Parts: sequence; structure tokens; C-alpha cells
Amino acid sequence: MTADGVPFDGGPSADLEAPGEALTIEVSASREADVAGNRVRRALPQRTRRTVGAWCFADHMGPVTADGAHPMGIGPHPHSGLHTVTWLVEGELLHRDSLESEQTIRPGQLNLMTAGDGVSHAEEPTRQFEGVLHGIQLWVAQPEATRHGEAAFEHHTELPEVELTGAAATVLVGELAGATSPARKDTALVGVELRLRPGNAVLPMEPTFEHALVVLQGSVEVGGESVVPGQLAYLGLGRDELGMETVEDTRLLVLGGTPFESPIVMWWNFVGRSRQEMAEAAAEWNSGGERFGETGSTMARIPAPRPPWRDPAG
Ligand code: MN
Repeated sequence: MTADGVPFDGGPSADLEAPGEALTIEVSASREADVAGNRVRRALPQRTRRTVGAWCFADHMGPVTADGAHPMGIGPHPHSGLHTVTWLVEGELLHRDSLESEQTIRPGQLNLMTAGDGVSHAEEPTRQFEGVLHGIQLWVAQPEATRHGEAAFEHHTELPEVELTGAAATVLVGELAGATSPARKDTALVGVELRLRPGNAVLPMEPTFEHALVVLQGSVEVGGESVVPGQLAYLGLGRDELGMETVEDTRLLVLGGTPFESPIVMWWNFVGRSRQEMAEAAAEWNSGGERFGETGSTMARIPAPRPPWRDPAG
């Protein structure tokens, strides 16, 4: 582009895009974070990219060996204003929540918890499991229409599988190539796990959605960029398909949706629209009030930290 926005003809980047196209690819590094002693790669949010559709959080954990001395898991903590979406590549976890859900999740299954106004949950190591744990925890921001509503929990063992050119896909949320996931979504959204075979693959896409990729295993070439675990590849709006190339078996998540209806405020385990809401939610959790309920977990309850801003009304 020239300074006045007119695409210039020629130059080093001219061969990266077909004529007339200006498709976004922004590859940025995930942030290393610690969640209750577990190291994760946080692909979302990014400093300059808070949401992809309504997807607002993506923690890629493992692969890591869990055993009696190093159990994986996270004690009781609250959420509001979001759905948690849990997807495992290896291992298992036991979900307990304040709706009295008690559900073991294994690879190929989806846990989707809706926080609405408030819920609490724990992800516990299961008694019998020792081995490699590998997965991703995603959050989806709830729109104004549902974010003050009821909490809910879904566990899906049957998700649609789609065979694409060069890849097999599982539809976690939304629709791909005519196959629709039974999982709840409150906004126009898609979440797909792709398993690429060495060679070329083509993924159909909804052009009114923005999309991003998170690679869980292997590596993929997209539009001249190489994408590996520990990165977010933001793909923007306006694509009707995505060409990918890989030299090894590669597993990645495709996240997409209609750009979210409003800016969000996200702090600790809460998604809302103001710092005031965050501070109130934290105070209610720490006071043990009824809003977030009880999980029934024997793991230690995780207290909310002090909000980092001086003026919660600001
Ligand atoms: Mn959680």
C-alpha cells in the first residue's frame, strides 16, 4: 500500500497475494502464563487483538506429564459473562461445577460451560489418570442478550466429523461444510479442530467471519507464513477458503466468528463491560456469596486477586 491507501504495483510483497486481494495474515507470539502452577501458552487475548469473533481467550496447555507428584488441575474459581470451551488432545480431566455437574472429559469430547451472571468450577486430575495431558481452554464472550442470564453446562461426546481435501476436521462449535455442532453458541461463531496430513489442504471459510489459527502440534504454512505452537495467526475477514501446506502431521484449531458486538473488559476470570463489574464480581467471590455457588471440589478455592487499577469506576 502507498501512504494514500492505493495498492502499489510491484515490490517485494507483490507476489504474496493474488491480484486484487489484500488478505490479512498477522502471526504473533503467545504469552507464557501460569495457571495454578500449570504453564500455558496464551494465544488470546493479545495486546492488539482482544477478540476473534466472540473468542476472547485461548490457553494451550501441555503436552506435560501429570502424575501423583505433579497433578494437573485447577481448584474452584468463578466465571461470569463467558462460555468456557475445553478440548483435550491427550489425557483426561474431571469437571465439577456449581450446577452439580461432575463430568470426566477425554480427547474428542467437548465441555462447554456457560457462566451467564455467575458460575464456579474446578478442573481436577482424575484419580486413575497418570500420563500426558495436552489440550486447550477457550473462552467465548457472551453478548449483552445472554451475559446476565442463567449458567449452564454441556458435555458433547458426538461431534460432527468432516473430510476435507488434505485434512480431517471435527466441528466443536458452529458449522463447517454443512456439518453443524450441537454445542451452544450465542453469537455467529465457529471452532474447528483440523488434522492436516503432509501436503496441501483447503478449508472452506465463512467470509463474514474473522478467523484465527492456533497450532497445537506440528506446523503449517499459510500465505507464505509458517505457524507453529505458541503463536496466534490472525486471518481477518473476507476469506471464503484457506489454503494450507504442511510437511508433517499437524493439528490446529480454527477459531472464527462475526466481529464481536462491543468492546469487552476482561480481568481474571470475568468478562464484562466495565471495571466496576469486574471489581464487584471479585468481591462477591471472595466474600463467598451465593452468586457463584459451590463446586463440591476438595481442591483449594482460588481467591480473586486485588484488581490492578486504582479507580474501579474508571
Ligand atoms: Mn475456569
